[in-house]
Amino acid sequence: MTEIKHTMGAEKAILDTLLDTIRDAVVLADADRRPNRLNKAFENVTGHSYRDVLNRATDHGSIAHDLLIRALAASEGGRWRGYMRCADGTDRHVDITVSPVDGTGYPPAHFVGLVRPTGGHETLDSREEVFGHDLLTGLPNRDIFYDRVNQAVLQTNRGGGSVALLMMGLDHFTLVNDALGHAAGDQLLIEVARRLRNCSRETDTVARLDGDKFALVMAIGDVDDSVIVAEKVLSVIGEPFHIGDHEVVVTFSIGIALHPQDAPTGPQLIKQAENALHYAKVSGRNQYRYFSKDMNQKAKARLDIESRIRKALANEEFTVFYQPKVRADDNVITGAEALVRWIDPERGVISPLEFIPVAEENGLIEQLGAWVLTRACQENKAWQDQGIEPMRVSVNVSARQFRGPHFVETVEAILRDTGLAPRWLELEITESVLMQDVEAAIAKMTALRAMGIGLSIDDFGTGYSSLSYLCRFPITTLKIDRAFIADVDTNPKMAEVARAIIGLSKGLDLEVVAEGCEVAEHVAFLKEHGCQTVQGFYYSKPLPATEFERMLRAKVVQHEPARPARPVRSAGSTAGKVRA
Ligand code: C2E
Ligand code: MG
Ligand code: MG
Repeated sequence: MTEIKHTMGAEKAILDTLLDTIRDAVVLADADRRPNRLNKAFENVTGHSYRDVLNRATDHGSIAHDLLIRALAASEGGRWRGYMRCADGTDRHVDITVSPVDGTGYPPAHFVGLVRPTGGHETLDSREEVFGHDLLTGLPNRDIFYDRVNQAVLQTNRGGGSVALLMMGLDHFTLVNDALGHAAGDQLLIEVARRLRNCSRETDTVARLDGDKFALVMAIGDVDDSVIVAEKVLSVIGEPFHIGDHEVVVTFSIGIALHPQDAPTGPQLIKQAENALHYAKVSGRNQYRYFSKDMNQKAKARLDIESRIRKALANEEFTVFYQPKVRADDNVITGAEALVRWIDPERGVISPLEFIPVAEENGLIEQLGAWVLTRACQENKAWQDQGIEPMRVSVNVSARQFRGPHFVETVEAILRDTGLAPRWLELEITESVLMQDVEAAIAKMTALRAMGIGLSIDDFGTGYSSLSYLCRFPITTLKIDRAFIADVDTNPKMAEVARAIIGLSKGLDLEVVAEGCEVAEHVAFLKEHGCQTVQGFYYSKPLPATEFERMLRAKVVQHEPARPARPVRSAGSTAGKVRA
């Protein structure tokens, strides 16, 4: 214990000395991106003592404090450029690079900003829109934005594709200013800017044009991408804002124009997006409108499918099919994968590939996912209660579902309510979902494992997981993607990958399952190389619960008699990936 304290003390002294002797100006910030430590070099660059800034002891110190907050908030992408107010009232252009750090050590910082002066001291006439950036939010201003629009248009003319321009305005922003004051209004705009930046890719430009007006320009391959972004923007801005002690709910109106579809040049594109925004406002606000009628119809079709999913949930039009997992040696069923189906009264059975991506984007997946999980657990428990030999049911989990803040609690509650013992449930998660936030994923998986639930990596081999992470994830099963299985008997390279995955699972003491086994040759290969559990059309298609129950009672499944030895596969026969 004493030794640890001693080390911590030594570490603190070293870090303090380091911070105060390096020539670079440094600002440390807490988890809320508020500055909590400035070093000596910062004092040299700005002339402020750190107390003047952190305690807002002087007017200029207070301005510098505000600017630091803006810089730290604005620099999501890592960088902020703008003017810093100095102790003598002059302004100095600086470049601040912000990096997130592990906030648990000493000093307790979550963000480190390196402040580099890029100019001398100046006295500015106006604090507005310095260096092409809006001082309040740190976003590019109108001049830079217009320039970026023109660039995007030129690039598209040369390289193809489209440009989407979203012109966006907060609805009734003046009400916030009037009710809560201008400081709160400013805070809201900063937050809006941050959320908009989070919705966009690095190559897009988000700008604040003036007042409550923002704009986004992006190059897109498919015009549908603009629908996705517009819906995302409406949904993130619709989430409540916490401004001081108040919870503020605002809405956005968005006008969208496309190049080359709606306008041949940058300035005309801007004009059409303005028109579309006007149209969105007069049509009732809190919505997006395209300049073109066609696109409005397309977007409406998308919204239709969304409302149809909602209705389908309410009308119980979803059902779960089961596909057996079979022990290759003796054809005994050892488990089943639950696969959702939508039985639409008009269109018949709809594949999850069609509706899961939409449900994922609009958030309905959480409700749908919980429904599938409940149904699968209920049915599995009912089979056990009828005296059928217990088997494990595997349920697919989508990205948004897994990342949801209450995912673990939801699973726990479903198991409790249905009475299924956790060991008879397995969750299938794809690699890409786990790689998005590794630490959070490990924490959730650890909690699920602690309950006794099995965890499988689905479509293994198609994602980007690094093998070192594989050891850190508390998983129980690897599921070889069907793309590898499809060719094991004809393509030696694919066979080698499948063999390697089987070997890897053995080495890491994991169960291995092969999906997409369609012919006897696949099964023979897998058996030979030690993969015992197989799933695929060779044995059975996914079946409705009653049919699967019949199969389960028989315990053993023979391969589908009607199936030819090697079916002719079309290029797209392996189902698409819909979960990441
Ligand atoms: P997946 O989890 O990889 O599921 C396996 C898919 O492969 C299923 O497609 C299954 O019908 C198909 N399949 C099974 N055996 C064979 C075979 O021998 N050959 C070929 N070519 N395909 C085979 P399905 O049911 O259309 O589901 C597609 C994807 O949709 C699933 O891929 C999964 O990612 C997703 N999905 C299905 N149900 C759910 C669900 O309840 N929640 C979530 N989040 N995703 C789901
Ligand atoms: Mg799966
Ligand atoms: Mg799969």
